[in-house]
Amino acid sequence: MEKPDHSLELSREEMKQYGYKIIDHIVDHFETQDTKKPVTIASREEMDSLLTEEIPNEPTAANQVLDFVMQHVIPNSNIVSHAKSFSFVPGPSNYISAMADTIATGFNIFSGGWAASPAAAELEIVTMNWMLEVFGFPTKNGGGIFTSGGSMANLTALVTARRIKCGQDFSKATIYLSDQAHSSNIKAIKVIGFKKEQIRIIPTDIEFKLSLNKLKNAIAKDRLEGLQPFCMIASAGTTNTGTVDPLNEIADICKEEDLWFHIDGAYGAAAMLSNKKPLLKGIERADSLTMDPHKWFFQPYEIGCLLVKDHNWLSSTFTEKPEYLRDVEGNESEINFYDHGVQLTRRFRALKFYMSLKTFGLNTFKKAIQYNIDLAEQTEAILRKSRNWEIVSPATLAIINFRFNPIDRNLNEKELDLINQNISNKIVFSREALLVTTVLQGQIVLRMCLINPRTTIQDIQNTLEKCEIYGNEELKVKV
Ligand SMILES: *Cc1c(COP(=O)(O)O)cnc(C)c1O
Repeated sequence: MEKPDHSLELSREEMKQYGYKIIDHIVDHFETQDTKKPVTIASREEMDSLLTEEIPNEPTAANQVLDFVMQHVIPNSNIVSHAKSFSFVPGPSNYISAMADTIATGFNIFSGGWAASPAAAELEIVTMNWMLEVFGFPTKNGGGIFTSGGSMANLTALVTARRIKCGQDFSKATIYLSDQAHSSNIKAIKVIGFKKEQIRIIPTDIEFKLSLNKLKNAIAKDRLEGLQPFCMIASAGTTNTGTVDPLNEIADICKEEDLWFHIDGAYGAAAMLSNKKPLLKGIERADSLTMDPHKWFFQPYEIGCLLVKDHNWLSSTFTEKPEYLRDVEGNESEINFYDHGVQLTRRFRALKFYMSLKTFGLNTFKKAIQYNIDLAEQTEAILRKSRNWEIVSPATLAIINFRFNPIDRNLNEKELDLINQNISNKIVFSREALLVTTVLQGQIVLRMCLINPRTTIQDIQNTLEKCEIYGNEELKVKV
């Protein structure tokens, strides 16, 4: 190649050839991903020896760099969209959104302020309004912002809650969340400067739901001590078990006690589009709600979302007016999203969500989400029929926790922990499926999160059969 020179340009033909080659790789991956192994295992030493090099001062042929990346970089990552990727929260993604991201990047659209990209801001408003409607938030005053993910959405919510409820002085403020709440909430609370003494972790009951009584007691105790309870974070689908806190009852408490009601629905909010909607009753009463399109709305990374009851809460929290932005202030309805959150320069995240929702239609998303919920329930039925398996937490919003515990073996807790840990280690080491453990009430259990619409019951059965083989091997070792 003659170029690139200081202009960082390629010729028209070079760009096309390079771009088409990348599209071929991506399409090939979408078609064949489920035949690959979902798990990658590599040490720092291995990656060092493969990838470390001096900064390249001189050019390398574009195709050579691309080939190197496709050969050495891309394969050394887990395939989170694989049908047998069951752990953490899978990222099934979809092709329309992947291409939409390519458009957003290709045109390098600045999605910070209205003046720079009125249509991008409008699409964010339009897509946000769709979500406000799905979750029963007011579309007239309600609002929100697309973020990098659920963590950033939670952080944005808590900064807003603190400003509205505490103003400048939050030295006496206390905040409440359950022992099953996602770690990103604690992280956010610490990032924004709360001390450990201001955080109340409320225990959950036997079903992993926040205990209302313990919440009430904690609030009352703090009031007696002259502290200022200001915010409650509930989970709409915990990451561990899919459990939804009693949202309606928590909403009542928040109203009575004048607390900000934040719901972290990063995992489970999508279940609003399924027959589990009644479980989420009360979600519409939150002051702020985190949902995470790059989880159960099948978007590629990164897109999270924060919805709020009143969009003015965001602008009054995040608006700063530096001199160099004075020419770009528009009128009120023309939203500058840099005034609604932390980021100034923002990529055009709304585009992929908009294009995929429009292309497939909301009904297709509903079918996919319902399929996932049904799949977890079928998995539970299979496990319940077996003499080898015990359900530890039943199928809840497409998550199920279980362990190998043959009925006639009378294994003790320590043995069970070891066996189930080893089953997971072996299946991961085989790289055939990503299935890791979690800990529930002190027990090591296997956890499946089934939000991939391409996962079949056969994929699950094959994996369970492998697990049983490993489990039986462990029993032999024991004898
Ligand atoms: C995944 C998750 C988060 C964090 O979201 P990211 O998109 O990973 O930043 C927060 N809360 C819950 C319940 C989650 O499942």
